[in-house]
Amino acid sequence: MSEIQFYTGENIPLELHKVRIVQKLDLVPVERRAEAINEAGNNTFLLKNKDIFLDMLTDSGVNAMSDRQLAAMMIADDSYAGSATFTRLTDKLEEIFGTKYFLPSHQGRAAENILAMTFVRKGSIIPMNYHFTTTKAHITRLGGYVEEVVIDEGIKITSDHPFKGNFDLGKLKRVFEEKGDRIPFVRIEAGTNLIGGQPLSLENIEAVADMTHSYGKLVVMDASLLQDNLYFIKTREESAKNLSIREITKRISAKMDIIYFSARKLGFARGGGIAIHDEKLYLKMRELVPMFEGFLTYGGMSVREMEAMTVGLEETMDMDVISQGPLFIKYMTDELVKLGVPVVTPAGGLGCHLDATRFIPQVKQEEYPAGALAAAVYIAGGIRGMERGTISEQREEDGSEHLASVELLRLALPRRVFTLSQVKYAIDRIKWLYDHRDLIGGLRFTEEPSSLRFFFGRLSPTSAWQEKLVKAFRNDFKESL
Ligand SMILES: *Cc1c(COP(=O)(O)O)cnc(C)c1O
Repeated sequence: MSEIQFYTGENIPLELHKVRIVQKLDLVPVERRAEAINEAGNNTFLLKNKDIFLDMLTDSGVNAMSDRQLAAMMIADDSYAGSATFTRLTDKLEEIFGTKYFLPSHQGRAAENILAMTFVRKGSIIPMNYHFTTTKAHITRLGGYVEEVVIDEGIKITSDHPFKGNFDLGKLKRVFEEKGDRIPFVRIEAGTNLIGGQPLSLENIEAVADMTHSYGKLVVMDASLLQDNLYFIKTREESAKNLSIREITKRISAKMDIIYFSARKLGFARGGGIAIHDEKLYLKMRELVPMFEGFLTYGGMSVREMEAMTVGLEETMDMDVISQGPLFIKYMTDELVKLGVPVVTPAGGLGCHLDATRFIPQVKQEEYPAGALAAAVYIAGGIRGMERGTISEQREEDGSEHLASVELLRLALPRRVFTLSQVKYAIDRIKWLYDHRDLIGGLRFTEEPSSLRFFFGRLSPTSAWQEKLVKAFRNDFKESL
């Protein structure tokens, strides 16, 4: 997608693709939406698809595939060992990252499991710019700790810092000086998921890698959201302006010891894996793959998905492809800013993030503002987002609540899936909700699992606020859905 100028001066992102397969959507009435969110325990993960109009839960495994990806799936080589499909995939990874070795896994978190089991021990400390839910769960399960060393700007909701995902090098140095012996590796998350898909600069990535290597430690990149980060490096970093996406990717990978990813995001398919430069490191992790994932040439993935991933990785090197997500997100974010709705700025990758703390200041953090806003946005528009706040955290060892540093509602824009009119509808319903924000109340747990509670937990409203919201909607929209 290019920045194509409109004669009338309008500034809208223009798609450089056409749609050839479509899926019918339903929009159920607001009364049914209020019912559905309660059947789902006010947890958007538990909603049924037939009740959802715009599914903005995630970008995971739901990005639109290209004609070339679908075509490639037809030539998949379905043999247990020695599959040509696997060779095509590893060749592509070597071409893009320069990595000789690849361990396939059924998705990103499975790669995290292998990494954690290989390197994390009781008391280990893993510094990272910011954690991701499954990353942290794998590390803490084995008795390790996550140390967040993102720049302070990273958790400021509104900012004009172009690289809010950057490491604070001073903080990182302090962790090395104070607890260096407990650190097996540093984890760089490209396109920090939980703080709004905010990127790191190439300069920062290289500086983190150099510092980590000077302390003799490994550098691991979680490249799940790398494609957005590549786009932002190319468009926001002066010194990278004249580099191609391929050259930027090579520069990054040259500094990494290990690159792992979810191919549900990177590569527009489903699956994941770990790309490694060094044979010794590869051998250290290798035996875990047949034990937990599958044989070394598929790792739990279907060969068709691996073919699609190979083509998807190639397409990730194309600015027209990887710019679509960030440009749509920027459009949605900028329009909401114009309407006065509190969102994370600048627009990052992955999705548009509403700031629940400012949207509904009347809901205290113990009553989960981001979760309450997720339920309210669904009621207002049949739009499913994902809570990224305190519900997504885990309780402390003593059982006390760990309040998140930010309370966000993520509205993901899976790549090439929605049209601009659908995005405009979402903006309209969010603005309506913002004008009725005083009606929104909190949530409390009725069923709280001890691990990854945001997936399965059930909650109920702390008052009859949802009924009031439905009434206000009917008042304003009469017959409309
Ligand atoms: C999605 C994601 C993962 C986990 O990948 P899955 O394929 O969903 O298991 C890990 N890290 C980041 C940054 C992600 O966005």
